[in-house]
Formats: sequence, C-alpha cells, structure tokens
Amino acid sequence: MRAFYVLLSTFFVSSVLILAAWQQPAALPFGFTARTAAAHLAQEKRFLSIPSADRIREHHRFLAGEPHLAGSRRDRELAEWMRDRFAAAGLEDVRIATHDVLLPWPQEVLVELAAPAGWRASMREDPIEGDPFTQITPEAAGIPYHAYSASGDVTAPVVYAGSGNPADYETLARRGIDIRGKIALVRYSVPYSYRGFKALTAEQRGAAGILIYSDPEDDGAGKGAVYPKGPWGPESHIQRGAIVYDFMVPGDPLTPGWPSIAGARRIASSDAASLPKIISAPLSFKDARVILGALGLAGQRDVNRPQTAGVLVHMRVRADEGIRPIWTVTGMIRGGERPDDLVIAGNHRDAWILGGVDPSSGSAALLELATSLGQLARGGWRPKRSILFASWDAEEFTLTSSTEWGEEHEARLREHAVAYINVDSAASGRTFSSSAVPALNRVIAEAAGAVSDPASRIPVAAAWRERRTEERGALPTGSSDSLVNNRLGSGSDYTVFLNFIGAPVADLGFDGPYGVYHSIYDNHNWVARIGDPGFRYHTALVQIWGIILMRLGGADVLPLDYEPYASRIADFAGEVAPAFGDVRAAAIELRGAAAAFDKARDAALAANDLAAFAGMNRALLGVERAFLAPDGIPGRPWYRHLIYAPKFTYAPDVLPGIADALAAGDHQEAEKQARRLAAAVRRAAVVLQSRQP
Ligand SMILES: [Zn+2]
Repeated sequence: MRAFYVLLSTFFVSSVLILAAWQQPAALPFGFTARTAAAHLAQEKRFLSIPSADRIREHHRFLAGEPHLAGSRRDRELAEWMRDRFAAAGLEDVRIATHDVLLPWPQEVLVELAAPAGWRASMREDPIEGDPFTQITPEAAGIPYHAYSASGDVTAPVVYAGSGNPADYETLARRGIDIRGKIALVRYSVPYSYRGFKALTAEQRGAAGILIYSDPEDDGAGKGAVYPKGPWGPESHIQRGAIVYDFMVPGDPLTPGWPSIAGARRIASSDAASLPKIISAPLSFKDARVILGALGLAGQRDVNRPQTAGVLVHMRVRADEGIRPIWTVTGMIRGGERPDDLVIAGNHRDAWILGGVDPSSGSAALLELATSLGQLARGGWRPKRSILFASWDAEEFTLTSSTEWGEEHEARLREHAVAYINVDSAASGRTFSSSAVPALNRVIAEAAGAVSDPASRIPVAAAWRERRTEERGALPTGSSDSLVNNRLGSGSDYTVFLNFIGAPVADLGFDGPYGVYHSIYDNHNWVARIGDPGFRYHTALVQIWGIILMRLGGADVLPLDYEPYASRIADFAGEVAPAFGDVRAAAIELRGAAAAFDKARDAALAANDLAAFAGMNRALLGVERAFLAPDGIPGRPWYRHLIYAPKFTYAPDVLPGIADALAAGDHQEAEKQARRLAAAVRRAAVVLQSRQP
C-alpha cells in the first residue's frame, strides 16, 4: 500500500513539473544563440520525422541475416554494403580502411570427462523447431570458443569456483582446496563481469584451465521465460567471447599503441601483455550440468559446499594465430565552418554469430542515422563541424578496429576530435541508458528531453525518471540527476577516444531483460518479437543520437559543460582519495574556472560575440585532453586518462592511478599519483581560462 501511495504521489508531482515546464518559453539548446537556435530547431524537427522503423527493421533483418564474424567473408560483404549505403545516403569521403590484426579463429574446442569417463560436451546450441532463425548449421555458427585462449591440452581435476572472483578462490583455499594445476569451472555472472577477468584470476592463481558456463540463475530459466517465449537464454545457449586482457592494452595485441597498418612492427606473442596464457572455453548449462552433477553440485551451486574430489576433465583448445584483415567503414558530412573538427558516431558491425542485439541493432541504427542526417544535408542543412560515421570491426575481439583507427589518426584526432558518441546495442528493451563523461551530461539530457518515449509519449528523459522511480522508489528532492551515468568502464569502442585520445565520449542505448548475449538466440527474431517489437525504440535511439550530433556539430559554442565534471572529480576524490586533499582542491579550482567560463559563454551567446566563440571553442577542444598523461597510468601506459580507466572487470575505475596504488597498499605511489592528477585537473582549469580570442 505504501509503495503504491509513493508511486502515485511522485507521478502527480512529476506531472505538475512537466506541465510547469511546458508553460515556460522553450529554453535555447545549449550552446546556441537566439539567432541560430530557431533555424537549428527547425532542422531538428525535420530530422525527427525522418528515421523509419520499417527501414530499420528491414536493414536489421539483412545485417543479422547471416553469421558475420570479424574478418569473415560475410563481414567483408557487409562492410561493402555499408560503404554503398553510406554513399547512397550522400555521405562524403566514404571509404573502407583495412587493418591486418591478430584474429585467432578456433580449430578445435574439446571438453570431456576423463574420470568418470564417457561424456563429451556437445558444444552445440539446440535449434528450435519452427524457428528458422535458430536453424543454423554448426559449421555456419562456428565452434563456440573464447578468443585469445591459449592453445593446449590438459587433463586435470575440476573444481567449481563460483563466479571465479578472487574471493571465491580464497573461500576454496580456506576449505583446503588449492586451484593450482586444476581446471576451474566458473559461472558467467550478471551483470556480466568481464570473462577476461575470470581468466586472468584463474591464470594468476595457477589454474591449468578454465571453463565458464552460463548459469540459468543468472541469465536463463531462473530469471523467467526463455527464448523463443521470453528474453532469457535456453539451457543450451553458449556465451562466446574474447578473454583478452584489453584492460592492459586494447587493439591488436601485437601492435600495442601503434596502428596495424602495412609495414607495422609486430611484437612477439610471448611479449604481448594482453594475451592470456591459460586455456579457456565457454560451456552451456546443458553441458556444464553434467560436470556439476559429477561434482555433486547439481542442485545447489555454492563454493562453500563439499565437492566430489577426483573428477577429471580433459580440455583441448586449438586456435590458429591468424593475422587477418578487418574493415572500418567511414563517411562524413563535411562541416561548413570548421570542417577539420570532428564529431564522431560509431558502432561495431562484427558479431559472434548473427548478432541480433549485439551489434546489429546498433548497426541498423547507425545506418538509419547516416541516412537521416544525409537526407537533411541534401535538403540544405550543414553543420558547422564535420560529422563522421564509423562502422567498426572486430570490437568483439579487442575493440580492435576502433583502436587501430584511433591510433592511426592520433595526431589529427588530438587536434580535432570534438566528441565520440558510441552505440553498441541500440535496443534490447525500453529503458534509456547512457554513460558519458560529465561534460556531455547536459547535451544528452536535452536530447533525451527532445525525443518522445514510444510507449508513454512523454519525453524519454521523463520516462526514464518514472521508470527509475517505479524500480527504486522516489528520488529525494534535489538529488543529483543521474540520467547519465558518469562512471565509464570499457567494453565498447569509445575506449580509444576517451583513454588514448582524450575526447569526451558517450555510450547510448535502450536496455531490457536480455539473456541470449553472444549466442545463436541473439537474432533478428529476438529483437523483432521480444526486445523491440515495432522497432520503435531503435527509432527513438536514432533520434536521440542524431540530436546530440546535430547540437555538437551545429552549436555556436560547443555544448560541453565542465562544472558537473569538476563536481564529479571532487566526488570521486572524496570516495577514492579522501586523504589527498589537493585533488579536491584542484577540482574546486576547476569548478571555479568552469563557472567563470559559463558566465562568459552566456554573455557571449547573448551578445552574438563571434570573436569570443572562436576562443571558447578552441579552449573547449582542449579540456578533456588536459586530463591525459603522456606516459599513462602506472603499469598501463596505453591508458592515459587520469580520471577514467577500466578495472580488470570492465567496471569503471575512477582516479585509476590513485585507486590502483591504494589497492596495492602503496601509499607513497598513491601520493605521487594524487599530485599528478591534481596537476592535470589544474591544467584543465588553465585551458578553460585560455578562452580569450
Ligand atoms: Zn557489441
């Protein structure tokens, strides 16, 4: 009863607020003058009417129609198709860039019981009768594997090790179970922590091999109806994926920090920091259940329970060490005033198999975005800055093509990258989800306020707030708006732009219950019938993505906002490094500089002071870059950003230099890192102050 009351009352309050907002004159979009806003908003209105759900559905069916693993024949065909569609949309400078990279494909993955003998894992996902989308031959689907697993052959006792986190091995050790020389059987856990972290943890503890299975309690029948009746994974679904240690360095493991272009130097595999030394394979629950049964853990799976000793598993994994071409497709709408400045939108095209949600929902959205903005441009619209569209490849391996492309264009991007807006999966449900550096909070919130939620017809931002209230109770009044999550980890193509180039980045999508990730059940039918019937949320995503790009591309003064960034840095400092007061002091200085900048920007916009705009835009291009250190964070020189880096789990690591040193118990190093960070934050303040023309 109480929950119902709270819900009703917040609904009432928010409706009143929305009505109040409607009665006010429409605010200008951030960064525009009154003079330019009217024409811009008219273009946005035209833009919003262009994206077509039917076209997205049709393109999605095509993109997800066949397996298109990175480097495969179909991947190449789709790259050419995307290139032709970009050209047909009127994009300029459309091209395919090739990088030759280490892309291991599987030759054999064998898992069997050696004692008690007589069982071999099927490594197959069951086709579903009457569902053509799952009638895919094992040859076409490919051998399910963990990319970048070591090759090897081992027979060893198997130990159930829970989620495969350090705490699980400590629990086992307390019970006298040593993982050294054994095969760890661990579950994928949800939210999916990165499988590479499980592999690294097992490797560091001396395990001989690792098997990672999908537990129905995490993403299958334990959650609800399974595909094709519902969104969750059937018991034979297998989550493929890379286990590469790209939290050390992403991209081609053999060219860490430089592009894999013709003639590039390659290091030896044995010297590659991101390559695992352990052998690893994925399992479905259907297969894993047999091993769990032999261990006496069929019903309850808990690392605290006694396990049957002497269960021997034989694993053999063979992958080639192929150097294969991958293909990045780009095209642009050239800016009218500052064509060198680049606002970039990207999505990866490669999939483990069909890639229904991941990534074809995003690929269909990228194409619709390019088509819609291209049509607008043909009708006479031209942004001030160039907008570049990128269809990346081999994201599923090591964020490979975006990283190689970013490394190849490093100098130009450092000078001219305005922002990078990523969409991996466009829509697996109806909940708007965005992560970004705080500088982009405002432009994302404005865009999410300008697009209607397809189901409720209220703005997406308001729908997000209602849904959040339903899920977690009312937000306290005045609580900070967290429509945009300012904790960025890794796991998609924005990494090179944020951590290597130092550009503001965002990652967008609509989320929902989704348990078929990286399996054959992630297909067109899942998206069309379960994730987003009618493709309405795909359409809304294209609209939000486009509005953000149009505003970044068209604003008089870039819509980047450094006051919230300074506040977040102060928050992070309070959490991670309360002992180092200087970081907080520097953040407060940055906040002061940002406040002064905002005042000057408001005045310049009100006065249409073109000379002031130029200095401000130049300064804004440099602020995120100021957070980088050329030699990177300790032990991970590729990761140069001092505020953000991925943790080994893909979870965000904020103030990574300090956090990593403190985690290692090295207070002196932490102090040194704090000084470095404070200096970077002060550099950012100086850049903001350098706005004078
Ligand atoms: Zn993806």
